[in-house]
Amino acid sequence: MSDISPRPAPDLADMIVHLARLGQSTAATRLTAAQWGALRYFARASRLSRTPSAFSCYQATTRGTASQTVKSLVEMGLLERRSHATDGRSTILELTEAGHAMLAEDPIEDLRRVLDRLPPEARASLQGALGQVMSDLAERRDAPVFGSCVDCTHCLRVAGEVICRQSQAPLDRAEMDAICVAFAPASGVKQ
Ligand code: SF4
Repeated sequence: MSDISPRPAPDLADMIVHLARLGQSTAATRLTAAQWGALRYFARASRLSRTPSAFSCYQATTRGTASQTVKSLVEMGLLERRSHATDGRSTILELTEAGHAMLAEDPIEDLRRVLDRLPPEARASLQGALGQVMSDLAERRDAPVFGSCVDCTHCLRVAGEVICRQSQAPLDRAEMDAICVAFAPASGVKQ
């Protein structure tokens, strides 16, 4: 007989996994869950992070799987490759106009609407708890932690300008709100 007793239902980990699947349910949409995830990621990622390898880290998937998803979106005209502004040898991926239009049909919007109906304190508490869980799990799996400039050690404010020391590029509001693979917690402690 097993000495592992079943966890009482509902189990929190099961709930989180089920919620993620339900939130991404694609039954009535034209893209797969992986393609929606990629479109969403490239719409929100910083310049440094708009590459297939950064996307594969974010999705916790292999480079090959991430590249296949990106390739399919490029072929559908929803993503396009552009030269990197400072490194002419590399390319970054951007959403096309059709890609931005497609995002209006993103199935995750239903989940956003449901979350928006929670009382502000419940939403803030859920956000804090899930952020902690994601950080702890990333540390346990030795996976990178994604974050944005406001909490990053590479973010430098000089004479009214905000600069990224990692890319040596100035940061505008949109870039500062983006998710970034090169993020390093300002505390120096892996979150
Ligand atoms: S400051 Fe940090 S989070 Fe912002 S772009 Fe640079 S590395 Fe990324």
